[in-house]
Amino acid sequence: MKLRATNIYKLSRTTYDVLIIGGGINGAVSAAALSAKGVKTALIDQGDFACLTSQESSNLAWGGIKYLENFEFSLVRKLCKGRNRLIRNYPSTVKEIRFYTTVAKGFRFPTILIWMGTWLYWMIGSCSMRCPRYLSRKTIHAEEPLIKLEHAAGGFEYSDTYLHDNDARFVFGFIRSALNSGCIAANYIEALKSDKDPQGGWTTRVKNHISGETFNIESKALINAAGPLADSLNNTLRQSTLHRILFSKGIHLIVNRITEHHRVLTFFASDGRLFFLIPMGVRTCIGTTDTPVDHPTKEITAEDREFVLNNANSLLNLKEPLTEADIIAERCGVRPLVIKGESTEETDWMRLSRKHAIEVDRNQKFLTIFGGKLTDCLNVGDEVCEIIKDMGIPIPFQRYKWYGEPDQTAKMHFMHQARVFRLDDFTSSESSEKLSSRLWRRYGSEAFKLLELIQEDPRQAEVLIKGTEYIRCELHEATHREMVTKLEDFLRRRSKIALIERKETIKKASGLREACEILFGGEAESKIEEYFKA
Ligand SMILES: Cc1cc2nc3c(=O)[nH]c(=O)nc-3n(C[C@H](O)[C@H](O)[C@H](O)COP(=O)(O)OP(=O)(O)OC[C@H]3O[C@@H](n4cnc5c(N)ncnc54)[C@H](O)[C@@H]3O)c2cc1C
Repeated sequence: MKLRATNIYKLSRTTYDVLIIGGGINGAVSAAALSAKGVKTALIDQGDFACLTSQESSNLAWGGIKYLENFEFSLVRKLCKGRNRLIRNYPSTVKEIRFYTTVAKGFRFPTILIWMGTWLYWMIGSCSMRCPRYLSRKTIHAEEPLIKLEHAAGGFEYSDTYLHDNDARFVFGFIRSALNSGCIAANYIEALKSDKDPQGGWTTRVKNHISGETFNIESKALINAAGPLADSLNNTLRQSTLHRILFSKGIHLIVNRITEHHRVLTFFASDGRLFFLIPMGVRTCIGTTDTPVDHPTKEITAEDREFVLNNANSLLNLKEPLTEADIIAERCGVRPLVIKGESTEETDWMRLSRKHAIEVDRNQKFLTIFGGKLTDCLNVGDEVCEIIKDMGIPIPFQRYKWYGEPDQTAKMHFMHQARVFRLDDFTSSESSEKLSSRLWRRYGSEAFKLLELIQEDPRQAEVLIKGTEYIRCELHEATHREMVTKLEDFLRRRSKIALIERKETIKKASGLREACEILFGGEAESKIEEYFKA
């Protein structure tokens, strides 16, 4: 039986200590932390894991330099610590990158003040990365002639980090680690309602969106990790909270790679907000916007596109201005911004904090995670464990470290094994060093098994979908261990193929059919149709 089917079977057959509703970053880390510490945990998502906000971020794990402007020093310190913890524990995935920042003449702060701010930021971040560097107009011109200098006063460069694979893959890493620790998780399962039973536990009615069936899941405690849908879920569950969510829409456009340099080009857009050009493999991801909206929407308007394209065109010396025809893929999400109380009259959108808040009802054994960032995810996992313990649910392995890549010795062993096994002889698409680093980054210790598969059958090292980097054995891995239920789950979230290739290109790619046969067997045809119809 496939992983998803087995897990759905198990969901209704036992009482869990905790049921988590929502498999974005907040739900995923809660599941990884609780299950690793021995708590009997279940997690469901109405769509695929990370299908909402957590797949639409800027892919940065950063301390939030911009929040210094609001004097949110404690938030910046917290985020920097969160970021540093991620770098230490996920050295293959969370990587330092330079932010090459240009400041326009007449900007609301003099360049020297912002320059001092970057030093403050560096110190708040425990001086853990390369220190900032001042950039004169001359330096910018010499190093990145792509940047228009007519209106530039100068600039500076500082370090933060980015997620090497995409954000959704990062989230799946936590789901996978929760599954490894015995968590029962399933995608495309929606929580319809939850009721307290006479014994004090929760019964949650859920719907399987693939089969249409409904069934119950019993749990002692319930976690609402529904991201932007947290308030609407609480309404359905008849839970009232002091905190609630406001929505800010942000979009990114993905275009052909704009600069060969591996760094984030940073500007202040026409609305005064930070504006990024972020490397994404052979592409560049440009954004973002910050638009108040009244519901979680995925709709990108013509105005949104125009804002991003106009800003890029006005800041860069491009041979040809970017137009809509250059857009390869788009990303759109709403930031769940948490506020306390009712009033929104005084709300200054730019100043709304990106903090997370966890509101707890100990009597009901219920908690809601509001807001937050990918960067802060390890703290959320830790906090949730503390709260669950306070609710009286035993945590058998309280001190167990629930996060982190396998240690560096294991990585060195893997890299050595790939070398002596002469992976080079099997791969034509990329160097064996690059391939083995990628396999380690994406699959951790499981990468040893992939090496074995290649040893048994060299075809496993062949790129299956032409134009992408994914090799045949990765498709087998996705089929058996990554709960790929729809083709979009693989193309958009387990891999980033849908972000770097146009839909028409993917449709024509040789190997797509075979990939789908591996993923879905007899259902390959209908899954392809479902994806390209959407
Ligand atoms: C444009 C943009 C850029 C950003 N950039 C960054 C960045 O660079 N760095 C950073 O750290 N953060 C960034 N963020 C913030 C970050 O992405 C979010 O704060 C984070 O992803 C929120 O995660 P979440 O788990 O709370 O919500 P989500 O990822 O939205 O997850 C909630 C999940 O709950 C599920 N769900 C909802 N209702 C139900 C139900 N009834 N039953 C079952 N499942 C349900 C949904 O399907 C969804 O998968 C950015 C956000 C945006 C929008």
